[in-house]
Amino acid sequence: HVRVRYAPSPTGYLHLGGLRTALFNYLFAKKNKGTFIMRIEDTDQTRFVPGSAKNLENCLEWAGIPYDEGPSRPGQCGPYVQSERLDIYKQYAQKLVESGHAYHCFCSSERLDASRLNLKNKYAMSLYDRHCLKLSREEIQTRLDRGDAHTIRLKIPHEKTTKFTDVVKGNVSFQNHLIDDQVLMKSDGFPTYHLASVVDDHLMGISHIIRGEEWLNSAPKHMILYEAFGWKPPIMAHVPLLLNSDKSKLSKRQGDVSVDSYMNKGFLPEALVNFVAFLGWSPEVKEGETPKEIMELDELIEKFSLEGINKSGSVVGMDRLDWFNVNHIRKMLMDKEKVVNFFLPKIKQQLLDMNIDIANVSDQYIIEAIQCVKDRVHVVDDFQSLLKGFFVSEIDYTTEEAMKMKAKVWKSDSKANVTTFATLLSQIPDSDFNADEIYKTLQIAANSIYQGLNEKELSQKVNQLMSNIRYLLLASPVGGGIPSTIQILGKENTLKRLGDGLN
Ligand code: GLU
Repeated sequence: HVRVRYAPSPTGYLHLGGLRTALFNYLFAKKNKGTFIMRIEDTDQTRFVPGSAKNLENCLEWAGIPYDEGPSRPGQCGPYVQSERLDIYKQYAQKLVESGHAYHCFCSSERLDASRLNLKNKYAMSLYDRHCLKLSREEIQTRLDRGDAHTIRLKIPHEKTTKFTDVVKGNVSFQNHLIDDQVLMKSDGFPTYHLASVVDDHLMGISHIIRGEEWLNSAPKHMILYEAFGWKPPIMAHVPLLLNSDKSKLSKRQGDVSVDSYMNKGFLPEALVNFVAFLGWSPEVKEGETPKEIMELDELIEKFSLEGINKSGSVVGMDRLDWFNVNHIRKMLMDKEKVVNFFLPKIKQQLLDMNIDIANVSDQYIIEAIQCVKDRVHVVDDFQSLLKGFFVSEIDYTTEEAMKMKAKVWKSDSKANVTTFATLLSQIPDSDFNADEIYKTLQIAANSIYQGLNEKELSQKVNQLMSNIRYLLLASPVGGGIPSTIQILGKENTLKRLGDGLN
């Protein structure tokens, strides 16, 4: 049975790398009808940020990849928060001491610093000199009885080499004499990450560990621990780093990396998840199949495999996220049910946020307005500015945007041209007041104003006329097509706005 875990430390917001780790675990679990677990690794009390565990959880929910077992959805292996499992770690550390795989260390940080300074070799400086390994049983007992501060360290079997096969990295091997006698229990009674995660992965029945490459160097310590306990280690898959465009490790400095910020900017979770899935992974493309990138979660699940994870780091190109978002929005907007259930409530809220009274506006009207502007939308928040003009009772021609637009599109003959169009428009019978008729009317107006135009000239003049009308109707250069905008606004409202703007 596949059981995987996402094991964040609650030290801040969820960033793209964390979301990717969670997502790969989620996809792998779902693909294999397994269980996706979230475990909070909060044993480093100095880095703990209150509220961040809840935030991580909310982000996963928002992204649509909730865990099956974890703090708010306990299963058989709880608690899922490490600070609530301290007795367990204590007990297992004690077992290792008894079996000779770990030892007490009473060295003060001053002594550790001083002993390191005596060493010439830079690498050796990072290794503990095993001072306390020489202590006699009696001495250790006396000091423990006395309550001396101490840690428990793993005794790395120096003579061996630790080898294992990582699903992504292939065969890896580490010479044990270069590995530090890792502290397992700290003097504050908390375990270190290494002990806690190995004990928990075992007790929680984790079958596969899928995590960032930055943990690869910890893996041999974990393998040594599994062996010391006599446990079978999970299968490991270390996923390559996310990189900035200059190939440095993805950092906050180069663009936004927090999931929160994309959530707040109005990106669709489907798009962010799709974008993140393709960071360092690609689906297998069968012969004759065209590679596909726009995928919903269920498709990602179907296609996911650990073998599809790339071996090298992957550059995060943010413009790709935009592309995924636009594609997902377009796709969702084609789906009537999603328009009604997803976009409609969001847009109503946006209108209310702009203090627009929609009490007497029908859902149908809003939906038509949505359809009209849909090709202009990049993020859901774009609807706000694109739709405003359909709902306000008066257009404000004094905004900076409006004045800029006027300067650009309004020419000496604009007023006369718009008037000609308005007159023709007023003559369309109500039963024929639709986008096609309105477009024809635009052409008739342009033809009657300029006469004898060829096709190309006609379309230029129609465009010019449409810019003028767009200015009068919406006072904004971006929006849906003019014929359908007019159809939605209706004859009366359109004529009123054309008249108001001219006065
Ligand atoms: N707590 C570690 C982190 O913050 C988990 C590493 C692991 O998955 O083993 O990423």
